[in-house]
Amino acid sequence: MTPAPLPVSDARLLAEELALLIDGATNYAIYMLDPQGHVTIWNRGAERIKGWRQIEILGRHAAVFYTPEDVLAGKPDADLVRAAAEGRFEEESWRLRKDGSSFLASVTITALYDDAGSLRGFGKVVRDITEEKTAETALSRREQHVLSILATVPDAMIVTDEQGRIVSFSAAAERSFGYAEAAVLGRNVATLLCGLDLGGADGSTATLVGAIRMVTGLRSDGTTFPAELAVGETVSAGQRILTAFVRDLTERDRAETRLRELQSELIHVSRVSAMGTMASTLAHELNQPLTAITNYLETARDMLTDPTVRDVADVREALSEAAGQSIRAGQIVRRLRAFVARGDVEQCSEPLNALVRDAAKLGLIGAVETGIAIHMEFADDTEGVHADRVQIQQVLVNLIRNALQAMADSPRRILTISTAIAADDQMLVTVADSGDGIPPAIADRLFQAFASTKPDGMGLGLSICRTIIEAHHGRIWATPALGGGAAFHFTLPRELADVG
Ligand code: ADP
Repeated sequence: MTPAPLPVSDARLLAEELALLIDGATNYAIYMLDPQGHVTIWNRGAERIKGWRQIEILGRHAAVFYTPEDVLAGKPDADLVRAAAEGRFEEESWRLRKDGSSFLASVTITALYDDAGSLRGFGKVVRDITEEKTAETALSRREQHVLSILATVPDAMIVTDEQGRIVSFSAAAERSFGYAEAAVLGRNVATLLCGLDLGGADGSTATLVGAIRMVTGLRSDGTTFPAELAVGETVSAGQRILTAFVRDLTERDRAETRLRELQSELIHVSRVSAMGTMASTLAHELNQPLTAITNYLETARDMLTDPTVRDVADVREALSEAAGQSIRAGQIVRRLRAFVARGDVEQCSEPLNALVRDAAKLGLIGAVETGIAIHMEFADDTEGVHADRVQIQQVLVNLIRNALQAMADSPRRILTISTAIAADDQMLVTVADSGDGIPPAIADRLFQAFASTKPDGMGLGLSICRTIIEAHHGRIWATPALGGGAAFHFTLPRELADVG
């Protein structure tokens, strides 16, 4: 049933209110076309968006809003035909303003019919969505960018909710852990990372954010890998979301171990070559006075076969020359010692235990894996020595590597490293092993250069150790170790702590 027509005055009032409402919608161009497409009603929004004033546009064909290409293609009329056929349609397409500039428009065209069913015209609502689209495009471009960065980050990325339940698992995470994303969604991240202390009283992940920590990753096949974990936090729609980056350190650890192995080898080799250089310099320099001494002594001996009184004076002179030369030889040795002790050597106060621990780390690379038990027995950590850190570490690396070699074939392999206070303001360091002990054949030449029982040994290590320790005013010696094996001991001047 058709509603009864309103009294004329009420109808005008309503029309005025409607016009106000339409004009108030300034973000929308709202206008009407007659059945042929000419503008019949034009609101303020249309004026603002399209630039045409009402007075200019009334009666003109809607084709003026279309781009030349669209006009050529017959789109203005085609749109009206389509709206008439479908009742209403919406599209996003480029339109023109009065000044010829274009904007991306969201357009709705509605066909309006009267009660008798004949076409009265078209209502059009147009919105400028250029900026909106630009922002949307920028956002999606940024999103694509972030996604492409995340896809190339080699770290596994795991996104969880506040309770640590996995909500997203990156491709790198699938590779690291050996699980497909679907298999872990909803699981707690702690089941993939041991050593992950969720901390919060309610088992929440509150304490994870910020710091980088070491954890152990658990792969689907039950194997583990060392990993570094960094967790970031965001709040989205009132929900806390945590993003965990897990870096698999297996490769890095392997490379580091290899590097340290090489370093320790290098220290060993460079010491050997330094000692080699020193030994040949020593030999060369000492040769001269030794040859002279031999000559003087032989001359003296020959003169004493049948001596005359004059010969005795000559013999005395030859002997005092020989004595002079041996003093020179002594000076050469002292000079070389001083050189070794000085070089780029700097003796200063060093905390002994820390120094020994560092050297042990270096000397023991690869040892733990071969099943050697290591005992450390340390004096008080506050004890210090007056020493050159690098040189003493060289001594320790050398002693430790000798000990490891000595135990290579032993059924029982125990290495003991200890520090203790000794008499006379000295600290004592001992490296003892459970090998076969010092071969008796070499026992009295142990610290001499070129004394070795090893097929590829140079026999320089211990002689260098002695040079270094003696340059530090210390002493080095070997004893049989308790329970078999060898123990090497050396002393260093104890650094007495300042009182006060
Ligand atoms: P190299 O190791 O090149 O032989 P070193 O001077 O370091 O040179 O050692 C000399 C010798 O001392 C070794 O060949 C070995 O016979 C003996 N030696 C050193 N350390 C030990 C040890 N811990 N146990 C048994 N013998 C050792």
